[in-house]
Amino acid sequence: MKVIVTGGAGFIGSHIVDALIARGHQPFVIDDLSSGSPKNLPQGVPLFVTDLRQGSRIREIFEEVRPDWVSHQAAQMSVSRSVREPVFDAEVNVLGLLNVFDSAAAVGVKRIVFASSGGVLYGDVSVPTAEDYPAAPISPYGISKWVGEKYLEFFARERGMQGVALRYANVYGPRQNPHGEAGVVAIFCQKLLAGQAPIINGDGKYIRDYVYGPDVALANALAMESTLPTHFDAFNIGTATPTDVNQLASCVRDQLIALRAQEGIQLNLPEMNYGPARAGDLRSSLVSPARAAAHLGWKPGFDLAQGLKETVRWFATQAAQ
Ligand code: NAD
Repeated sequence: MKVIVTGGAGFIGSHIVDALIARGHQPFVIDDLSSGSPKNLPQGVPLFVTDLRQGSRIREIFEEVRPDWVSHQAAQMSVSRSVREPVFDAEVNVLGLLNVFDSAAAVGVKRIVFASSGGVLYGDVSVPTAEDYPAAPISPYGISKWVGEKYLEFFARERGMQGVALRYANVYGPRQNPHGEAGVVAIFCQKLLAGQAPIINGDGKYIRDYVYGPDVALANALAMESTLPTHFDAFNIGTATPTDVNQLASCVRDQLIALRAQEGIQLNLPEMNYGPARAGDLRSSLVSPARAAAHLGWKPGFDLAQGLKETVRWFATQAAQ
């Protein structure tokens, strides 16, 4: 199938491109390269460098490609920027999203899979949350993800397509941009490899659900390929495994120590530093992937140690270049 992947030059989007190619599909990427890079893409994948906010150009691309499916990953990703600049957040995450959904409907796209977010929808939860837990977004970013799901449901119902929202937990892995605020694993890897002490905000006891990027990409491919009975559905994509930030930091260090022993690389590992807690950070966020297992046949393939091993190795290779 022909698939337009918005944000396909970014972290998760580029793993989706890889998964689609491996499964015999033909991806086309729309990305403004604001945080993504063409280096994340395999050679030969068509890349349209365009901002989602340019509605008429988005329509032209859809008319040129005429995709069967769409994977909508591109977004303004920063919760704190969404608080500082709610208009910009909505321009990209709501109006940009509408440009994509409206163009998709105009050319007869059969299914759109949308990158939503578990944490920002469910708020502070101490047990793994199911999809019917009431959404209560508190940031403009969270509100825009919720609105995006509602628009997808509308387009699916009214414009003869199917919509699938995937509510990701905390995604990590190779190619994650360490300059964003979401990628704590990427930040830890990059800092430690540079011999600098990463800062843990607060007491480090904040619980998160970490899921490996290529596993999330597989969930996206399955969400496109699966037979689904309804016009719209939402699935959590996470592991339901609680990990606090102190444990995460120590797992990253363990993997770096193992890599140092195996490869004989020079590496001074500083201790972690603690800084003030960030306003608005959730104490706990976990999602249950039971529905994704039942309806999409998806389950995470990598546990945290396996995923971190791959991630640390990738960041070490980047640091050596
Ligand atoms: P990323 O920054 O690596 O990818 C986003 C991509 O979108 C980048 O390539 C960027 O250049 C592109 N982009 C941004 N604004 C654009 C615009 N106006 N026009 C065109 N392209 C634009 O981030 P990611 O972690 O790969 O996130 C992908 C999606 O997953 C996002 O929608 C994000 O909200 C969602 N998500 C991510 C996480 C996580 O933990 N990483 C968790 C929940 C949801």
